[in-house]
Amino acid sequence: MTTHNTPGDVLCTLHRILIQLSDLKERLERGPRQIKAREAACAKLEADLNQVKADQKAAKMTVDQKQLVLKSNEAKHRDLHAKLMAAQSNREFQALKDQIAADDMARSVLEDEILESMEKLDGFKKLIADAEATLARGKDDLAKAVKSVKEAEQGLLADVARCETELRQVEKELPNDFVQAYERLARTRGAEALAVVDNNNCGGCNQMITANMQNSLLTGKVVTCQSCGRVLYLPEDRRVGRK
Ligand SMILES: [Zn+2]
Repeated sequence: MTTHNTPGDVLCTLHRILIQLSDLKERLERGPRQIKAREAACAKLEADLNQVKADQKAAKMTVDQKQLVLKSNEAKHRDLHAKLMAAQSNREFQALKDQIAADDMARSVLEDEILESMEKLDGFKKLIADAEATLARGKDDLAKAVKSVKEAEQGLLADVARCETELRQVEKELPNDFVQAYERLARTRGAEALAVVDNNNCGGCNQMITANMQNSLLTGKVVTCQSCGRVLYLPEDRRVGRK
């Protein structure tokens, strides 16, 4: 265990640990966020697959309906042919012949449409296979993320515990007059509780440090930034031992 001579040394060490802790906690929170994002991606892929399946169903219904129309037309066609055979006059014969010709034309159009619809229906097989493969990849990705986040979590939690133990130990070295200001801030603001004086400015918010504050810091008093409220400490090369 290092021996700390000045409040600045202790605050500096505490700051380092608090920064480590906030970094570790940030990484701990990142894991579940990554999992959530992958879960959302999977839900989207599943919805995409369901949509393609619904489209396929609709296309199948279109084919079925057209085939039904074709079938009912066949009966009508046979009926017309029977009437044609039994036609009593040339006029009736010709009228029926014209109607049959028109029906044949419509039938041919319908058959083309059915063929086209069936080809379209066939295309859905590949679309569904593709959507299923994409979903499978998404699920695989999610499972891998869950596994790696869980694994990383063990290490991160151990690091947090180690840092917190170290923090508690170093906190014991804080001079009494610092304890209240430090504890109140550290509990609520973590690493944002402290700031090094950087070129006569607060390292947290860049506010200028007055000469008075500099003197107080040099004599080892508790000094907080007037702008952001962080407890300040001097950089290592400017620290002097407290009496
Ligand atoms: Zn500040």
